[in-house]
Amino acid sequence: MPAQLLDGIALSKKLRAEIAARGAIATAKGLRPGLAVIIVGENQASQVYVRNKVKACEDVGFHSVLERYSENLGEEELLARIATLNADPAIHGILVQLPLPQQILPNRVLEAIAPEKDVDGFHVANAGALMTGAPEFKPCTPYGCMKLLESIEYPIRGARAVVVGASNIVGKPMAMLLLQSGATVTICNSKTRDLAHHTKDADILIVATGKPKMITGDMIKTGAVVIDVGINRLPDGKLCGDVDFDTAKYVAGWITPVPGGVGPMTITMLLMNTLEAAEKSAKTT
Ligand code: NDP
Repeated sequence: MPAQLLDGIALSKKLRAEIAARGAIATAKGLRPGLAVIIVGENQASQVYVRNKVKACEDVGFHSVLERYSENLGEEELLARIATLNADPAIHGILVQLPLPQQILPNRVLEAIAPEKDVDGFHVANAGALMTGAPEFKPCTPYGCMKLLESIEYPIRGARAVVVGASNIVGKPMAMLLLQSGATVTICNSKTRDLAHHTKDADILIVATGKPKMITGDMIKTGAVVIDVGINRLPDGKLCGDVDFDTAKYVAGWITPVPGGVGPMTITMLLMNTLEAAEKSAKTT
């Protein structure tokens, strides 16, 4: 029996309608949610991501600003720009697209963003708050994965969850959100011995490695929920995930497609965080 699809496009459509409606209420109160997106350099994939983010903002009626800078931008100039946006009342969320050119230290930049405008949830204050269970903003990709699980009313409490990948932006916060929802969580990385031993034990398997199709059907527990965060471009130009969809779909109970799974949810949760930042700003002004 092939797995059921966890459709990130359909769920995003529903959530974005709710976000647009709440955004309209905020706008009517003079608090139109505003997102500033900064991109430095010419990375092609990043250019596509930022365009999609800005378009998504426009589609739900948010104010958005896209600032593009050349590959040679200095760190101090970028920090000065962030300081200006931190003080701009029309901007509730600031996102600096990664990766940055090598002359700019990403941590300095991410920590220059005011935590209350850190809609990516990457600031060390928000990462720390996530650890203690009270994040201001959840990082968008793991947040989107949690919404996908919520959409099928998956009983996370007591489930065995395995997260393959331990990056600061996906794997670690993902594991933390699952833990806080009551799952028993294992985090795997590139040094993990006998990866399949872990993945086959997972009721919930989240994969975020950047290694195309590395999780095959024989590494998955029958009936598991498989969420594939990976986005990889193959030599023929097609996109694929970190899970081998063609073999995994015969074993999993639920599975996200790539594209059309986690990708749209990441942008949707960015909109949600921007909306919440705008709503919260009303309470602090
Ligand atoms: P990183 O490269 O920062 O991290 C990759 C992680 O995977 C590391 O922890 C690494 O281990 C681990 N890893 C690598 N190879 C293996 C392996 N063979 N077995 C087990 N673990 C392994 O990647 P990101 O977290 O930033 O992104 C992961 C993927 O998700 C990429 O394809 C990216 O494009 C995609 N992505 C998609 C998003 C979306 O919206 N859908 C958003 C963000 C990312 P170690 O720590 O030991 O190096």
